[in-house]
Amino acid sequence: MISEKMTQAINDQINREFYSAFLYLAMANDAMDKGFKGAAHWLTLQFEEEQEHAMKFSAYLQDRGAKVKLAAMDMPKTEWKDLLAIFKEVLDHEKQVTAWINEINALAIAEKDYATQSMLRWFIDEQVEEEASASDVIWMLEMSAGSKSALFMADKTLGGRKDD
Ligand code: MG
Repeated sequence: MISEKMTQAINDQINREFYSAFLYLAMANDAMDKGFKGAAHWLTLQFEEEQEHAMKFSAYLQDRGAKVKLAAMDMPKTEWKDLLAIFKEVLDHEKQVTAWINEINALAIAEKDYATQSMLRWFIDEQVEEEASASDVIWMLEMSAGSKSALFMADKTLGGRKDD
């Protein structure tokens, strides 16, 4: 049996993953408003990926016979200073998500909940990827600072992200 406390922790995480999706969609819209179609594409794929994360946690609770409870979400920001500010916030947000997943894993260890630990392994690995890809984009944008043609190329590169 999955504990009440763990069920709540995973339900909280479902809400956070949906909020992440919401945040990245808001960023995609802002990138589009600023004329960066490539970045908007990258962020839209991220929006879709976050919904998949939420659904993965949701399916896990269903499999364990626990109740999935959806909750209200905060309204995301609608505007950022520039593309670099958007991606710096993506990285900060993903670091926060990593910390939350680690907290759930610590709870699973404390409760000797081996099934939840096993399920979380995928997310722990995924967070390494999420932080690395946001860092890569920040590096590319910092390298492009002050050059419109470099920024144009960076946006083109972001537009080439494949649906993974
Ligand atoms: Mg996620």
